[in-house]
Formats: sequence, C-alpha cells, structure tokens
Amino acid sequence: MTVDDLKALVRTIPDFPKPGILFRDVTTLIGDGPGFAAAVGHMADRAEAAGAQVIAGIEARGFIFGAAIAVRLALPFVPVRKPGKLPVPVLAIDYALEYGTDTLEVDPGAVPDGARVVLVDDLIATGGTAMAAVELLRRAGGTVVQSLFAIDLPELGGARRLRDAKVPADALMSFD
Ligand code: IMP
Repeated sequence: MTVDDLKALVRTIPDFPKPGILFRDVTTLIGDGPGFAAAVGHMADRAEAAGAQVIAGIEARGFIFGAAIAVRLALPFVPVRKPGKLPVPVLAIDYALEYGTDTLEVDPGAVPDGARVVLVDDLIATGGTAMAAVELLRRAGGTVVQSLFAIDLPELGGARRLRDAKVPADALMSFD
C-alpha cells in the first residue's frame, strides 16, 4: 500500500473542533484493516530501526498506533495520559495550548532508567503535545530516540521543533 493509498484513507473534516480548523481524522484509516496494518507495519519498522526498547503513546489516538506497534515488536507500552487517570503518584507536565494549558502525566516507574523510548502519536501539528511528552519521558528516566506520527502538518512546525530538541521525527504522510 503506497503513501497515497494511506493518505486517501484519512478523512478531512472542515471546521472541527472549531471554525477554520481542517481536522485530519484517522478514524477512517484505522477503520480499514489493510490500511491500519500497513500504517502500523511501517511505523513499527521505523521504531525497530531506531532501536526502540519502549514504545510510549499519547492519549488517546497515540494509544491506538503505539500499542499496535509495541505488540508487533513485543516491546513494553507506556501510556502518556491525560490528567487524573493513573492510580499512582505521577510525573506531570503542563504545556501551552492555543488557548490555555493542558497537562500530561506518566507513571514514574514505567520507564526503565536509560531505556530507548520511541514516542508515538497520530498527528503532529505545532509539536506542543509531543514536546511535553518528550520532557515527561526524559524526567521518567528514558531517552527519547525517535518520535513517530501517522500524520505531519509541516506548516505548523512541530517536527522541526522536535528535531531542534534533538529528537528525530518521522511521519508516514503529510498534509500541507
Ligand atoms: P500539537 O500539540 O499542536 O502538535 O497537536 C497535536 C495533538 O493534537 C495530537 O495529540 C493530535 O492528536 C491532536 N490534533 C491536532 N490537530 C489534529 C487533527 O487535525 N487531527 C487529529 N488530531 C489532531
């Protein structure tokens, strides 16, 4: 399956969640068996090439791709969660959104010291979410050796921000 085949499986919804936003929806990609398998296969190959020892996924769509990649490589999966979900004392980080702030949390015992972590999410836009997750995983003791996304929106500069922070960033496809 080519990149163009995978791109064709992504649904684009105008004015969601707010007027003026063009939302790239992976629901239709994961809803296609061969498409989902091909996307996960490509991402797993990249995680393996990066020497992944742990796969971390960002709630919620990062769980879908990240857990599937972890299973393919028989690696541990670490959820980077929205606030208030983990039943133990957490490491937490606040990060800026366009309006206001949000928080991500991780179990401080989930990442072995020095482990090579590959971070996964469905999409990178400004990179604020992924940068916060990288910082949190570093505080938890991991080394984030690669970040992987199904979709990059390069005009928003997120992948460049990650690379500037010495975290390689790769995506299966991009939308201008
Ligand atoms: P960023 O922090 O600006 O890079 O936004 C990325 C985060 O917001 C990811 O967790 C995405 O799941 C979500 N996101 C932003 N824009 C979209 C979109 O167009 N489609 C799906 N998710 C999006």
